Amino acid sequence: MRNLNGKTAVVTGSTSGIGLACARAFAGAGANIVLNGMGPHADIENERIRIERDFAVGAIYSPADMSKAGEVAELVALAERSFGSVDILVNNAGIQHVSPIEDFPAEKWDAVIAINLSAAFYAIRAAVPGMKKRGWGRIINTASAHSIVASPFKSAYVAAKHGVAGLTKTVALELARSKITCNCISPGYVWTPLVEKQIPNTMAARRMRRDEVINDVLLAAQPTKEFVTVEQVASLALFLCSDEAAQITGANLSMDGGWTAA
Ligand code: NAD
Repeated sequence: MRNLNGKTAVVTGSTSGIGLACARAFAGAGANIVLNGMGPHADIENERIRIERDFAVGAIYSPADMSKAGEVAELVALAERSFGSVDILVNNAGIQHVSPIEDFPAEKWDAVIAINLSAAFYAIRAAVPGMKKRGWGRIINTASAHSIVASPFKSAYVAAKHGVAGLTKTVALELARSKITCNCISPGYVWTPLVEKQIPNTMAARRMRRDEVINDVLLAAQPTKEFVTVEQVASLALFLCSDEAAQITGANLSMDGGWTAA
């Protein structure tokens, strides 16, 4: 189904994991894509070319650092200059840091809040005027089960994701009459570089082995005992862009194997 033909999707943090899967899902539905995030230039360029080739859409890349308001505004301006609009905005860039509160470095706190929460504010602020002008828009924020429940040693991440849920509801109310929806998706554990990178810190904070972290912390949180997949998250994001989802706004949609139900 090419129901996003002619639309443009900006997906922040789309050089790997959930963001890349969302970018490919939107491209599959016909949208032009703006990729963003960090990583080796050659890998990103390969993904960009693969999207153009596999789906016959336009795809560009912006290296904007999402923690910097000016770079985020430039990212949105670049998308509008290149494709004429930003119709879909997925605020997905994220980092995590795991540490006991008394040792939590202030610069890690600031970075986690900036990239997970402030970045979404900067991008929404920049993209909304164009969406209002065109009378259509979909804003999707990747929150987390940690927007609903906490885990020890993730103070900044839990605070940031609770903030994302609050920002989502507020923006949804402000834009309710503008045919622009704003929702967040809250995945449970998805096996991506973000999770993998924090395994050593989690082992240290919990005094556990790697297999214990995976089985007794990550998988134990989810009653299904399975990781969520990036494709599953992307298909929910795609659904939120459909006409059928036009009345879903201000929602925090869990996809967490039953974690927050438990
Ligand atoms: P990931 O590490 O694969 O993706 C994170 C993306 O953010 C990458 O593209 C990275 O380059 C980008 N990024 C990091 N700092 C950036 C910055 N300053 N500016 C621009 N881009 C930046 O991990 P993921 O799991 O796919 O994470 C995507 C989102 O999903 C995050 O918001 C994360 O909090 C959320 N999430 C992940 C899980 C999980 O278990 N993996 C669960 C719930 C929510």
